[in-house]
Amino acid sequence: MQSPGSQDPTGTSQWRRLGGTLAGLLGCARGATSPVPRAGTPTAPIVADECARLVLQVLEHVPEGVMVTGPTGAILGVNAAFTRVTGYDAAEATGRKPSLLRSGHHPPEFYEAMWQSLDQTGRWAGEIWNRRKSGDIYPEWLDISRVVCARGGVCHVAVYSSVGQKDGMRERLHHLAYYDALTGLPNRQLFTDRLRQAVALAQREERPLALLFLDLDRFKEINDSLGHDVGDGILRSIAARVTRCLRDSDTFSRLGGDEFTVILPKVARAADAVQVAEKIVRQIASPHLVDGHELYLSTSIGIALFPDHGQSPEELLKHADTAMYRAKENGRNRYEVYSRVMTESVRRQWELDTELRRALERGELTVAYQPLVTIGSGRIAGVEALARWQHPRLGAVPPDVFVPVAEHVGVIGELGAQVLRAAARQVQAWREQGAPWLRLAFNVSAVQLRQPGLVELIAAVYAETGLPLNELELEIKESAFLDRGESLVGILLQLHQLGCRIAIDDFGTGYSSLSNLRRLPIHRLKVDQSFVAHVHDDPNDAAIAATIISMAHHLKLRVTAEGVETAEQLAFLRQHQCHEAQGYFFSAPRPAELIAPLLRAGLGGDDRGPGLDPAPSRRRQSSRYV
Ligand code: C2E
Ligand code: MG
Ligand code: MG
Repeated sequence: MQSPGSQDPTGTSQWRRLGGTLAGLLGCARGATSPVPRAGTPTAPIVADECARLVLQVLEHVPEGVMVTGPTGAILGVNAAFTRVTGYDAAEATGRKPSLLRSGHHPPEFYEAMWQSLDQTGRWAGEIWNRRKSGDIYPEWLDISRVVCARGGVCHVAVYSSVGQKDGMRERLHHLAYYDALTGLPNRQLFTDRLRQAVALAQREERPLALLFLDLDRFKEINDSLGHDVGDGILRSIAARVTRCLRDSDTFSRLGGDEFTVILPKVARAADAVQVAEKIVRQIASPHLVDGHELYLSTSIGIALFPDHGQSPEELLKHADTAMYRAKENGRNRYEVYSRVMTESVRRQWELDTELRRALERGELTVAYQPLVTIGSGRIAGVEALARWQHPRLGAVPPDVFVPVAEHVGVIGELGAQVLRAAARQVQAWREQGAPWLRLAFNVSAVQLRQPGLVELIAAVYAETGLPLNELELEIKESAFLDRGESLVGILLQLHQLGCRIAIDDFGTGYSSLSNLRRLPIHRLKVDQSFVAHVHDDPNDAAIAATIISMAHHLKLRVTAEGVETAEQLAFLRQHQCHEAQGYFFSAPRPAELIAPLLRAGLGGDDRGPGLDPAPSRRRQSSRYV
């Protein structure tokens, strides 16, 4: 960076030459050494005015921007280059103070030093960050000279030259510092600056302002499964689409990752912001063509309004983020306007996010095992591994709560890896202790299924333990088959080729296409516990349970009933020739050391009951989350 007073780097010598000559011609003296009045001192404005006009007339066509201020410090005139660079024409600039261009980037000491130099030497030169009318911030080389006119009027002539014109690298650096390289949108820094400006303006003009916080839904999944190039393409496509929904005065920025913000400085009421949010949600929902893929995406948007939802930029941003979280909780592909009641639930969500990450880092999750019992023989055929998280302060957080959190924050792969490793080692230990038939059922979430590395993880864990892969069953919820039936086929085939079995978990609740059962390598259906619970008091549930069991027989699949709690339910299942049962009637999920005695004691309760676990606790441990 050039320092003030260094050898003329900007070509302003041309102007100085001109200025010098002009000053002489006009009877003005540059850089007067005698004490001169500072801006605001009453002098002879008419003379100064004339002086300025003449200077500007001559300088109208020089490539540098020129601004002349008079004795009061107000702008007397600007030339065409000034208008081109700043966006302010002569009429808009005249009469205003040069602080019109202030970017807010420099501390007060910067301006004090400038004035000191002008007072003492009649000149200041250096780089300055200014703000255009559009709000953009840009660096310039500024050369200010004090001009004292014949009657003692003090003017200042400021010559701006674009550092970008002279130094492409500097311009590029500026762009890098304030714009996102991928999408070309303003980045977090520029956004913060603009939001600060917009809030200050809204405050001054006593009018509302809206801030939208956007977060793409399931972007990470696409990025992980289709690669970063496709991910980048999506972000560019989003940038183009959303820009089309906005006005020039709005600021659309990318904060990072798949997070974006929109400042709407010209909203009259909340409904205007909602309208924009609706438009954005619709725009993003129509298919994106990226690298030959037709991709369906959605976004969740949070809206916060100034002044109702926050007085400061920080508060507004926080509350727009809170509302965005709520939109995610409420099903995604939607917007929510901030309301104060949201904060508590979102705070909890944040807390869970961080605590879960920490728990995984420290290996604090444990695994509970629930026996899978062959109905015909009453023997334990295997165990289902179920993740458990006992938090010192939050209590027992159930997997229905933390598994979605793990998916959302992108740690489901790590969670699955920890559970699989622990469970495989445990099953290996039990097999060595005399239960060589024991199969392991392991839950794989839809998100984890699509992440790369699952096949490798299973292969590595099974190679390490020496367990037979055909005794591993992956339980995949039926709902996972809905999302992307086609690409799922490839993953399931790979897992099948590896040798493990696949079960559809919670079958009957997830609307999977029945044709999946024919074309996919499925080994087992697990009848969802909601049907099993009512086989005795709801004929519809009984019919569904019986139909699923019968269908499994016809398709030559194994079938397990979940959530068996009573002898009556077991009798019903036996009558319909269900192969296997799992539930509190036999045993609740338990830590390994409590499962071991069941394995030793004759391998399961007999099929007339009372079961392995005569008094199972149906209550979960206390937790704030249930
Ligand atoms: P799931 O795979 O369907 O597991 C069965 C759930 O039913 C377990 O809930 C189990 O405790 C509960 N259950 C078992 N017997 C009975 C019964 O007789 N009555 C009733 N009412 N419930 C019974 P849990 O442990 O809370 O797990 C909930 C879900 O969380 C699991 O459903 C599974 O989808 C998921 N999950 C658990 N561990 C993991 C994991 O390590 N990875 C993944 N991806 N998901 C997991
Ligand atoms: Mg399961
Ligand atoms: Mg289930």
